[in-house]
Amino acid sequence: MEKRQLVIIGSGPAGLTAAIYGTRSGLDTLILESGLWGGQVNNTAEIENYPGIKTISGMDLATAMREHAEDLKAEFRNCEVESLFLDGDSKIVRTDKGDISADAVIIATGSTNRKAGFKGEDELAGRGVTYCAVCDGPMYQDASVAVIGGGNTAVEEADYLTQFASKVYIIHRREELRANNMATERALLNPKIEMLLGWVTEEISGQDAVQGVKIRNLKSGDRKEIAVEGVFVFVGTKPNVDFLKDDAVKRSPNGWIETDEMMETSVEGVFAAGDVRDKFLRQVVTAAGDGATAAMAAYDYISNQHFLKSALFEPERAVALLISSIEGDHLALAREAEDWAKSGGARIVTIDGHRNLRIKEKLGVRELPAIVEIRSGRKTREAKPSSVGDIKDFCRGLGA
Ligand SMILES: Cc1cc2nc3c(=O)[nH]c(=O)nc-3n(C[C@H](O)[C@H](O)[C@H](O)COP(=O)(O)OP(=O)(O)OC[C@H]3O[C@@H](n4cnc5c(N)ncnc54)[C@H](O)[C@@H]3O)c2cc1C
Repeated sequence: MEKRQLVIIGSGPAGLTAAIYGTRSGLDTLILESGLWGGQVNNTAEIENYPGIKTISGMDLATAMREHAEDLKAEFRNCEVESLFLDGDSKIVRTDKGDISADAVIIATGSTNRKAGFKGEDELAGRGVTYCAVCDGPMYQDASVAVIGGGNTAVEEADYLTQFASKVYIIHRREELRANNMATERALLNPKIEMLLGWVTEEISGQDAVQGVKIRNLKSGDRKEIAVEGVFVFVGTKPNVDFLKDDAVKRSPNGWIETDEMMETSVEGVFAAGDVRDKFLRQVVTAAGDGATAAMAAYDYISNQHFLKSALFEPERAVALLISSIEGDHLALAREAEDWAKSGGARIVTIDGHRNLRIKEKLGVRELPAIVEIRSGRKTREAKPSSVGDIKDFCRGLGA
């Protein structure tokens, strides 16, 4: 089976940034993509909030990111990831072009905005029909816009849009909003927002740009057209995770992948970056930031794994001192132990158990500092040293 160090699934800003950081760290990096290189930004006419670039077309930004990763010799492959098999240290990425075994995997498969499905939605997408208030709101200064949807996102984004727009209509097919009380009350108190509850959108009108929304009242059957320049559709967003079994990695109730601040998922060596994560803001800049963090964390993970394997688990016998790098007395103990080791004492591998929680778990260590003996990959003894004398005694007990 093909074997790689780092496999990145998805080539949006998160995946491409991860590829840039991965290759620059010297990792053998393969990036897999089933659609267009660059991800969702390809559907964005202008990006005006990427730091340092006042305005750029989405396609140009995607191309620049891809070329950057290519120059650094990241390898690209067009294929669809169908499933991920995670069992202990083994990570197998199954694609429609074969299986790949990876030391670390970054899931950067993004998200998909659900479409509402009414006439004119596809035809006027990017020309007044949009799915992102943070991205496109500032373009509607003093204009009238419509927000379609009645959930939290729709109501909160409608409120956000009133910073720019002179009028915001919330069009929702039910008589009541589905948003929480706080968001609903804020919207109700906002004089720029007009609620059209019990109305359904039938068509977005306009030739080259949005001119209005045709709506119908579900009770009376009355029809009318309201004049707007922009239509913001918020009928749901979902993470692209169909290839993941439900319990493969921990996810939020809505399916977003949960990570820690290193972008690591509940499975060691499997990271998630970008829109697919459970996070507050889904934008190019946050996706790129996630990608950088995930790649550096993957590098750290891979090098730690190599080090631990060769220093602790492959030798017939090894001794490890686990300390916490934020405790001054632990650091002093580690220094004394190292001095003793250098002067001819036993060979001791010092590990920061505060940063490497997983290795602490793997060795079954509950409290730091701890000294452990490992024979042929398995822990055979553990003690809690309070002085270098205890460490010497422990090693004498080994005959070390
Ligand atoms: C219309 C629109 C306008 C926007 N405007 C802006 C803006 O102005 N500014 C801004 O900052 N953000 C904007 N955004 C948001 C921004 O595009 C996203 O936050 C960003 O692209 C997320 O990057 P990502 O890498 O996480 O995911 P994505 O860009 O979604 O990339 C994920 C990639 O993974 C691939 N993939 C998915 N599943 C698989 C699989 N099974 N196998 C292989 N490949 C797979 C997909 O094909 C896709 O290419 C906009 C979004 C949209 C839709």
